[in-house]
Amino acid sequence: TAVKTLAECIFCKIIKGIIPSFKLIETDLSYAFLDINPLSKGHALVIPKYHAEKVHELPDEFLADALPIAKKIAIAQGAENYNILQNNGRIAHQLVDHVHFHVIPKPSKSDEEG
Ligand code: 5GP
Ligand code: ZN
Repeated sequence: TAVKTLAECIFCKIIKGIIPSFKLIETDLSYAFLDINPLSKGHALVIPKYHAEKVHELPDEFLADALPIAKKIAIAQGAENYNILQNNGRIAHQLVDHVHFHVIPKPSKSDEEG
């Protein structure tokens, strides 16, 4: 399946570089970057280079590419405590209608105190 973007989508604009982002990892099928409004230090988003609103609309090859990237990011962050989350639909807390996986580190109390 080919890369597919939508002109008015903010995450498609990030993939194309029209909106700047702090890139972490890029493959032919996926793009990973830091969340602009992080829930914790290092909060990352992994997005497919295919505009699908929800996971059930995403071709499998894009889905298969994204999760190993989330894993790499979790390892790079230390992989002690973290959440990998993915929301579909407004009621399920999705705000940006382009599939994305959140990778959210959960720092321990001692990490926060430095
Ligand atoms: P959702 O609630 O849809 O699962 O999460 C959307 C996420 O995208 C939020 O955590 C929000 O901070 C992030 N976000 C929205 N717009 C931008 C943007 O322009 N740049 C970056 N880096 N993150 C964004
Ligand atoms: Zn999009």
